[in-house]
Amino acid sequence: MEIRVAKWAGFCFGVKRAIEIVQETIKKRAGPVYSLGPLIHNDQVVEKLTQLGIKKIDFLEQVEDNGTLIIRSHGVGPEILKKAEKYRLKVVDATCPYVRKTQQLASDYALKGVQVLIVGSREHPEVKGLMGWTNGQALVVERPEEVENLPELTKIAVLAQTTQSLANFRAVVNLLKQKAGTQPEINNTICNATRLRQQAASELAREVGIMIVVGGKNSANTKELFYLGQSTGTPTYQVETAQELKKLWFKNINTAGLTAGASTPHWILEEVKNKMKELAEINEGNLNENLGENEVLGENENLVENQTIFETADKDGELAEKESGFKMSLDENAAVKPLIQGEIVSGTVVQVGTNEVMVDIGAKSEGIIPLRELSSFPNVVSPYEVVQAGDKIDVMIIKAEDSEGKLILSKEKADTEKAWAALEELYHNGEYVEGVVREVVKGGLLVDVGIRGFLPASLVEQGYAEDLNKYLETTIKAKIVELNRNHRKVILSRKSFLEEETAAKRQELFANLEEGQRV
Ligand code: SF4
Repeated sequence: MEIRVAKWAGFCFGVKRAIEIVQETIKKRAGPVYSLGPLIHNDQVVEKLTQLGIKKIDFLEQVEDNGTLIIRSHGVGPEILKKAEKYRLKVVDATCPYVRKTQQLASDYALKGVQVLIVGSREHPEVKGLMGWTNGQALVVERPEEVENLPELTKIAVLAQTTQSLANFRAVVNLLKQKAGTQPEINNTICNATRLRQQAASELAREVGIMIVVGGKNSANTKELFYLGQSTGTPTYQVETAQELKKLWFKNINTAGLTAGASTPHWILEEVKNKMKELAEINEGNLNENLGENEVLGENENLVENQTIFETADKDGELAEKESGFKMSLDENAAVKPLIQGEIVSGTVVQVGTNEVMVDIGAKSEGIIPLRELSSFPNVVSPYEVVQAGDKIDVMIIKAEDSEGKLILSKEKADTEKAWAALEELYHNGEYVEGVVREVVKGGLLVDVGIRGFLPASLVEQGYAEDLNKYLETTIKAKIVELNRNHRKVILSRKSFLEEETAAKRQELFANLEEGQRV
C-alpha cells in the first residue's frame, strides 16, 4: 500500500510559536507556569508539557502567588487579562498572530458600534475570546442553517474563527448577502495554515482509497479536515494516535492518504504512518501479525522517547516557515500591489514578535522581517530595540510571496541602500556625518551611520583616546575618510572633524579681530 502524506500537515506556525514561547518561559521564569486550558488541542503534547512543569488550570482562581500565565494560541478576551492582573500573574502572550489580528478587528468594529458576527463554534476558546473583545455583543453562527434565524441587521461585520472551513464560511456569507436588509462587511479571517491544510487534504482525499486524519478530538481544525475528507466520498477516519488504527480499514486499499491537524507534531504523524505501513503488510500477508505488532511498536516507542515536542523534525520548522504569510485576505477580490524583488517600499509595523516583525506593505500578505534583517548591528537581540508596532518604516522586498510562501522583507537592506546614497553625497561634498557609537571593538568604535562605520581608535580624538567606552551610545560627528560600497567599507575620522572645527573657529576668531582689540 502506498501512503501519501498531504503537502501541508501537522504543526502550524502558530502552534510551533506557542510551544517555543512556553519553552523559553520555562527556562526563564521562577515560580509556577500556568496555561488556562490545554495549551493546544493535543493530549500527547499537553502531557509532555505537563512533565516539563506547565500546570493546566481551568480557572484563574486556582493560581498561586508569583505565577506566570501563558496565554495559549487561541487567545483570550480582555476580561481574562484584567483578572490575571488582579491575581498579580505575569502574563506571557502566545496568542497566534492570526488570532490576535482577528481580535483587533472585532474590537475595532465593536468600538465603532458595528455589530460583529463570528462564523465559528460557540464553545471554541478562540470564539469565546473574540466575544470578549466585543464586550460579549458578537453574534455567533456555526452553520448556514442558522442564518435565517438571525435578526434583521442593516450593517454587520463578519469574521471567521481562524480554523473554520472555507466552504462553511462562504456558505454563511452567501446567505447573509441574500438576507433582506443586511449589508455584511466580509472579513475572511481564516488563517493561511488552515487554508493550506484544508486544500491539501481535500486534493489528496480525491486521489486515495482511504484517508486518515490525525489530531486531537477537541481540535477544531482537525475536525474540519475530517469533514473535508468525508465530503469527497472517500472513507475517512480520525485518530489521535497510531494505536487507534484498525487493520480492517486498509484491506484491499492500494493508496492511503494521511494528514494531520495543526496541533499534531511530526513524530505522531510518523508514528501513524509506520503503523499504517505495518497493518497494510499484515493484510498483504507479508508480516506476521504478532511479530509485526511488536516490531513496529518497539520502533515507535523509540521514536516517542527520542523526540520531544520541541524536536519537531525539520519538516515542522520548514512548514511553519512557509505558511506564516500572515495577513488575511480580507476582501478576496481586492487588487493587490505587485511585488518586485529588490524594491524598497514603505510599510507599517503591525506586530513585533520575539524573533521577527510583521509589516503591512499593502500586499496580499503581511511581510516578515526576520531578526537578522532588522539591523546591521549583530548585538540587537530583540526586535523591540529597533521598531514598535505602528512605526512607519522602509523595507526591501527580499523574497516575494507566492501562493504558498511568505513575503520576506529586510529593513537592514533598505536602510543600507538609503544610507549608502546619503553617505556618498556627504563624502563627495566633504561634509561630516552624524552617528551613534554602538560598540567598542578591537582597534576602535563601530558607529551607526545608517550602516556600520568604523572609527579607528587613532582617529577618535585629536590626541590619544584613553577611554573608548565613554563614547558608547553617544552621538558623534565625523568626516568620512574612506568609502567603498563594494567592500562595504566606511572609515570615519572624528579627529578630522575636530581639527576642521578648531580651524574654522580659529579662522572666525581671526576674521573678527580688529587692530587694537584686547583679547
Ligand atoms: S491554526 Fe492558524 S490560527 Fe490557529 S494557531 Fe495555527 S496558524 Fe494560528
